[in-house]
Amino acid sequence: MGLQPLNKNKSRRDLSRNSSFLIPHSSLSFGPPHSSLSFGPPHSSISLYFHIPFCASKCAYCDFASYPGREGAWGRYFEALWDEMAGWKERLADYEIVTAFIGGGTPTLVDAGYIAETLRRAREMLPFREDTEITLEGNPGTLTPEKLAIYRKAGVNRLSLGAQSFDDGLLKSLGRIHTAAQIGEAVAMARKAGFENINLDLMYALPGQTMDQWQRTLDAAVALNVPHFSAYSLIVEEGTPMAARVANGEAVIPDDEAVNAMQREAVSRLAAAGYGRYEISNYARPGFECRHNLVYWHRGEYLGLGCAAHSLVQGVRFSNPASLEDYLAGAREIDRQALTPVDEMEETLMLATRTARGLDLAAWRRRFGAPFEAGRQPAIARLQEGGFIEIRDGFLRLTLRGLEVQDAVVLELLEAGE
Ligand code: SF4
Repeated sequence: MGLQPLNKNKSRRDLSRNSSFLIPHSSLSFGPPHSSLSFGPPHSSISLYFHIPFCASKCAYCDFASYPGREGAWGRYFEALWDEMAGWKERLADYEIVTAFIGGGTPTLVDAGYIAETLRRAREMLPFREDTEITLEGNPGTLTPEKLAIYRKAGVNRLSLGAQSFDDGLLKSLGRIHTAAQIGEAVAMARKAGFENINLDLMYALPGQTMDQWQRTLDAAVALNVPHFSAYSLIVEEGTPMAARVANGEAVIPDDEAVNAMQREAVSRLAAAGYGRYEISNYARPGFECRHNLVYWHRGEYLGLGCAAHSLVQGVRFSNPASLEDYLAGAREIDRQALTPVDEMEETLMLATRTARGLDLAAWRRRFGAPFEAGRQPAIARLQEGGFIEIRDGFLRLTLRGLEVQDAVVLELLEAGE
């Protein structure tokens, strides 16, 4: 599984996939067709996301576009993905590819040759830089030394592994295909293959999870000494087996107070171990922040290829169908939304307040032609007094307390500006 814009972050991850505000709700199709897009100045930067929608089995909490048992479709899928990429060759000629992220699904499930060929074609067709960050998302239960050697040779320079928990009982209840021991083995294998830039995804607020179990997971994760962690609280998505278990009382999720306590535990344990919290759910040693996800949070441009992938190119959002069959049948870019200044303001505020850097007030004024504070002073004062936000050095940031209720703080600031 891998984050594309915002959400496995509903259940946490790479931003462009599920965010309700990043992804248009309506199926209105408007805005210019691709062929009429004019292109930015030479050397504008853009990020690439490749969605690989195959998994060994479906996890109990998963509502991502992932399809188990479709080995027979792998070949056709990659052919379609490569065709889609080829269609962008001319249109990306004046861009530089600053980051690429191969997410899913479980990209490490498919034959490693597909990943290598995807990157070979991408480098051949598109303007990659020498230092493009290339992340591959993977499941610890699917890695082998042979696959890792192929990824490395293909140019992958960052691995993001879905660890989720170091408690075998919880892993089993989540439907994960790997054990806690396999996480350590995967990290060791990856290091041996030459990977240093490794992220582990962790999840808390799991049904039945105790604080003690979460602390042990954090300690086990820190002991592996990787430079980056993503720690997401589980969100029970409608229609998943997990939601059914919660509805019938078989599974009980921790209450808000317990969830906040677990989040605070992550912040303090990871800080003590040298990991800075640079975004609500992301922690890194200095210099190991995920450049790809920073592009999403800073509202840079990105192109998502593959089923369910989302894009933001030249102020237009669009996405591919989540259905594998529809994608294989050739459906592309089903939702197009040309963003208005109000959309941009909402997204800018929502995304910037997720980050430790915060909202750049001077940049806001330059972009939108009026100070952010205009009309918002009473709300800002209220939120400052309540200890939810702070303004320092020209940036508005959420405090630890504010981050726990980020949606509410953003809503108050947005409404105050209307
Ligand atoms: S590994 Fe599990 S959570 Fe991730 S995409 Fe596959 S089924 Fe979903």
